[in-house]
Amino acid sequence: MHDRPLLVYAPSRALFVVLTGSFLLYQALGAAVLLTRTYPFGVKYHDSRPSYGRSSFVNPPMLSSLRPLLHSGQILSGSIKRSLLRSLKRSPFHRPGLTGLIVTGMGTLAAAGTSSPPASSCSTTPALPPCARVIPVPILSDNFAYLVVDPQTGKAACVDPAEPAKVLAAAQREGIKLSTLLCTHKHWDHAGGNEEMARMLPGLEVVTTKFEDIPAATIRLGDDDVYTLGSLSVRALYTPCHTKGHVLFLVTPQDEAGPGTSPTAPVLFSGDTLFVGGCGRFFEGDGAQMVEALMGRVASLSPETLVYCGHEYTQSNLAFAMSVEPENAALRAKIAVATAALRSGQPTVPSTVGSELEINPFMRVGEAAVIKAAREKGGAAGEDPVSVMTALREMKNIFKG
Ligand SMILES: [Zn+2]
Repeated sequence: MHDRPLLVYAPSRALFVVLTGSFLLYQALGAAVLLTRTYPFGVKYHDSRPSYGRSSFVNPPMLSSLRPLLHSGQILSGSIKRSLLRSLKRSPFHRPGLTGLIVTGMGTLAAAGTSSPPASSCSTTPALPPCARVIPVPILSDNFAYLVVDPQTGKAACVDPAEPAKVLAAAQREGIKLSTLLCTHKHWDHAGGNEEMARMLPGLEVVTTKFEDIPAATIRLGDDDVYTLGSLSVRALYTPCHTKGHVLFLVTPQDEAGPGTSPTAPVLFSGDTLFVGGCGRFFEGDGAQMVEALMGRVASLSPETLVYCGHEYTQSNLAFAMSVEPENAALRAKIAVATAALRSGQPTVPSTVGSELEINPFMRVGEAAVIKAAREKGGAAGEDPVSVMTALREMKNIFKG
């Protein structure tokens, strides 16, 4: 009479072992084949692991920098790579433009390009091309200046060109004629080249904040004021905190009917307010102002908005972010991508607003894990965004990566 229960028991136990084993292996090795599709500004991916199930973006420079590593087998062995590529191709979601991403349990990320290479940020191929062509110009020890070009009229600006010789050389190399200089704030490593640029380029319009003194300024914008660069609008978003007059510049097509109505991605020059994975120091402001800047102004922009910041601080920012949110899978993926980009001499910009909302602790002050870290490690006075923001910044100030 015990035969029947035993028969039932045996397969159940086998099934239990198989299912549990598979699940644990799945989580431990993290064989998560991710993906959705390639945009000109990056790849939107989806982490298929049951405990994550979220999307994020990876930038094309980062993605392309991973290819040599992948091809040289440093990230994945050939057989694993081949089987993953095969499974990607069998996937019902596979179509041209798709790229596979694999996250391992240890946070290693590999890009498995199965079709066309990812478009650069100035490409116009797939959906949502950037509204402007942007060329980062690394200057000083870790600053970024930028060239930004209206693709329709060729009108061009530079952003924070604190080392004029390098910026002018880059413009010449790219065949760009600069009519405008955009300056985010008064610090010398952002505004220190203004006077020389104005001397070198007679008639240069120096567009900046009206809330602090900026050398050679000719057009001073208040909050939400718009400067026109060819067919583009350059909107100043007033974000005091790092300095009392800091502005961000949001570039969109001039004829855009409203947020999200344009078939292009907006471009944000975030100066020293928002970095990839971090934010600027509160030299002339407080946590409340940074909450307003990041959670009020930046977070309300469309997630596709490309973020070009003032410094290459990504590695240390992401290390700090990891100390705050060690369980954040999107953050782990971003670290791997950024590390590979830097290793191959690529910048880690642009990020996107969508990506920052997933990985940047200063843009996640409402998340339970971030609040917990700020309370336990940073002694945050409360769970409100301002207390958490203030504690996070103090934690970062003394953080030793
Ligand atoms: Zn600064």
